Amino acid sequence: MNTTTSDSNLWTVRDSGQPLLVMAALLAVVVIVVGMAYITRCVRAQMEGNDPPQPPQPPQPQPPILPLVRPPLPPTRKFSEDDEPAECSICLEEFEAGVDVRRLGTCGHLFHLICIDQWLEGQATCPLCRGSVV
Ligand SMILES: [Zn+2]
Ligand SMILES: [Zn+2]
Repeated sequence: MNTTTSDSNLWTVRDSGQPLLVMAALLAVVVIVVGMAYITRCVRAQMEGNDPPQPPQPPQPQPPILPLVRPPLPPTRKFSEDDEPAECSICLEEFEAGVDVRRLGTCGHLFHLICIDQWLEGQATCPLCRGSVV
């Protein structure tokens, strides 16, 4: 039984491991010092950099320019002889057969195409009853 020798070897191994521990401690100190230096440099750079470069602003999406919304105009048709005689309330002339007329969809009033189109340039209401054309 030679346990003493093995114990001695065990201690020797532990003793030889001691420098490794010191090296590890030194390494830790070096890492800490380097880390502190790095942090200090970062803080100094932040303090010295008065105007840190801003990330480029993404271009603001421009709202699409909406075209002037025109209400969909009622369909046009030709005034026919079968229609009841009527007059355009804008020019006060009777409709002649074959003339282009426009009947407003909401109130059903009939006007010359030219007359009502000129009227609708400025407003979207029936010139007769002021009803909305839209
Ligand atoms: Zn007219
Ligand atoms: Zn009307």
